[in-house]
Amino acid sequence: MARTIVIGGFWHESDTFNPIEAESSSFEWAEGDALFSWLRRHGKESELFGVADELEKRGYALAPTLAVSAPVAGSVPKGIFQKYMQTLKRQLQVVERGQVDGVIFSLHGSTTVTGHQDAQREIVNTLREFFDSPTPLVVTFDLHASPSPELQRLVDGIVAYHTAPHRDVVDTGRRAARLMLELLSTPKPSHIISFRMPMLLPGEFGQTDHEPTKHIMSQIQSLVHDRKDVLDASFLQGYPWADSPHAMTSLVVVSSETTASLLDHVETLARSIFAVRERFYQSAPVLSITEALARARDKSRESLLYLCDSGDNPTAGAVEDRIDFLAEALKKGTTGLVFAPIVAPKTVAETMFQVGSEVMTELGGQLVDQGLRVNVQAKVLHHFHDDLGGDVVLLDISGNLVIATTKRVPMHGPDWIRRFKIDPEDPSRVFVLKSGYLFPAFEDMLQAIPGAASYLVATKGASSLDLNTFTYHLLARPMYPLDQSGPWSLERIVTSDGHIQQMGPIIL
Ligand SMILES: [Zn+2]
Repeated sequence: MARTIVIGGFWHESDTFNPIEAESSSFEWAEGDALFSWLRRHGKESELFGVADELEKRGYALAPTLAVSAPVAGSVPKGIFQKYMQTLKRQLQVVERGQVDGVIFSLHGSTTVTGHQDAQREIVNTLREFFDSPTPLVVTFDLHASPSPELQRLVDGIVAYHTAPHRDVVDTGRRAARLMLELLSTPKPSHIISFRMPMLLPGEFGQTDHEPTKHIMSQIQSLVHDRKDVLDASFLQGYPWADSPHAMTSLVVVSSETTASLLDHVETLARSIFAVRERFYQSAPVLSITEALARARDKSRESLLYLCDSGDNPTAGAVEDRIDFLAEALKKGTTGLVFAPIVAPKTVAETMFQVGSEVMTELGGQLVDQGLRVNVQAKVLHHFHDDLGGDVVLLDISGNLVIATTKRVPMHGPDWIRRFKIDPEDPSRVFVLKSGYLFPAFEDMLQAIPGAASYLVATKGASSLDLNTFTYHLLARPMYPLDQSGPWSLERIVTSDGHIQQMGPIIL
């Protein structure tokens, strides 16, 4: 009988400053054997693909349970989570426990469920009810994860992405599988050492090919490479757009034992990360809307220009209906911009049957009653039906193109823009994306064009880079950059085999 690893997951990044809960219909469910076909469809987007591939190559059988994911949005509705937990328990009941060697679950690490304090811990707790120690339990996380100490206590391994933008999703699954094999090769329980740093870090300032993060990631790789006792290590940057007591940055090391030398090593690295906290915030240039529009008008500087409306970025969970950028462009008389997209279901409904006409429409705040609104005159150029955006109209507003959608669309790549007969490489246009840092497909496109560039633009919204615009109630304080001075302390948490072995602050 092949040795068996149980797999499953729940993947959602939840922005608690987006007042709309994630749409129930946006969750994709893969239960039991359907998880395998889901993996074939979504292979490159899932850690579980790497887990499955690596383990199957080594002759392991997989017991699929339940994987659920949805695009980044507001909090997860309670009903979705209850259904998840019921279905997961049903699936776990049919697994033949006697044949299970280990469990690997893919979680995001920054999931918030309405009415639940720590939903991810509840998932892990349920797994533990079925597969108690010594069955190894490994979880994978996004790099923007902020797990609770209680979750850490319940697992034997935490493995997170090493890249932002995320290019190592499948590799992270492979690392989790290899860690599982190491854990299975010894009867001794693993240890997890984490140092939690009182710092929030928007992902845009933690890009792994920018300093200081680039150097930190190389130190993490050396830690794993150079020390025999270190089985895996991750720099969890956390997720600042959730008001959570766990939201912060941490360093997580999975080891075969905890020695003073290893604790010293990890503490030194954690101290060095916190010491350069200001440098993260200087690691990516951020333009004001005024500066961005000046660049858009001066076509001599870049061969192709992309501007990222970072405060209203759906891939960080924001609403995507704000028009601050468009309103400023209209005020300044800027032309040649392409807004990709603005979610405006009312405008789409009003205009979709008026292709070729000039219409008056009010744009802004069509999903959430907040932010700017402007009345504009628009020419309706086209009506499309799109699997992501729903009904979509292409509007010409004072010499700018606006892709107005019915539904939120994550800006994952330039192919989506091509659907609307717009060339995403057209040098005569300037693209304003609802995006934070560019996703790899956009980045690859720009890197292949000499002189092309992209900039983050500081805009308002539920993913604003200016964290002082949010009111946090649950967050630990003091917390950089909301607080500029301490007293600062690192929190050290060491767990092994279901126990918290050490926990306490280290005053800086
Ligand atoms: Zn992420």
